[in-house]
Amino acid sequence: MKDIIIAIDGYSSCGKSTFARAIAERLGYTFIDSGAMYRAVTLYALRHRMVNADGSVDRDDLAAALPLISIRLLRSAQGGGQNSVFLNDEDVTEEIRLVGVSDNVSYVSELAEVRKHLVAQQREMGRNKAVVMDGRDIGTVVFPNAELKIFMTASPEIRAQRRYRELTEKGVNVSLQEVESNIRQRDAIDENRMVSPLRKAKDAVLLDNSHISVDEQMEWVMKLITSITSTQP
Ligand code: C5P
Repeated sequence: MKDIIIAIDGYSSCGKSTFARAIAERLGYTFIDSGAMYRAVTLYALRHRMVNADGSVDRDDLAAALPLISIRLLRSAQGGGQNSVFLNDEDVTEEIRLVGVSDNVSYVSELAEVRKHLVAQQREMGRNKAVVMDGRDIGTVVFPNAELKIFMTASPEIRAQRRYRELTEKGVNVSLQEVESNIRQRDAIDENRMVSPLRKAKDAVLLDNSHISVDEQMEWVMKLITSITSTQP
């Protein structure tokens, strides 16, 4: 079977990463969670006090610091195709999911300098194909020639409930309203930013998973992959 690039874009908390990870596991591909890279840069910016209370970012300082920020995504020891995220050799896998990072990541990912830096790294990771990458601009900017592009969506209420369940199961103290307002706010910023706004690529397949099960979703995508790889030269 020919190796391909699978680009999965869409709204926050649609289950993109879980889906991408499961596809990668099934195919023996590398899973890359590009959102984790934006989150790691945001954590660095927060720790170095480059994000102000109004969400404005000290752009020049962050741009100058980018070469000092090393991000590595490693398969975690627990297996299951999980990515452990390392920021300058520190394991920040859990910390980048906390509300402080979620609340600020869209401000940091709006910056052209940050995007240019991370997109270059993402393209390098996909140089040999056999990757499933999820994010917001993978099918439109990072890999416009990806053989399979999927654009995922689900209603904001359903996404908030899923995310709330995930966070509370981990013991994070947060309300459903807070989670839903963060999701709506991130949607708005991601869709309206000047650089690489969240858009469905023209040739992406739309997947609204509000009312379908994870198993159904998997069956659907495997059929699609088989039909693409069997017709690839
Ligand atoms: O995927 P996740 O929700 O973890 O991404 C966090 C944030 O990172 C998004 O809300 C978006 O602002 C940003 N992001 C992005 N481009 C990507 C992936 C994530 O701008 N390719």
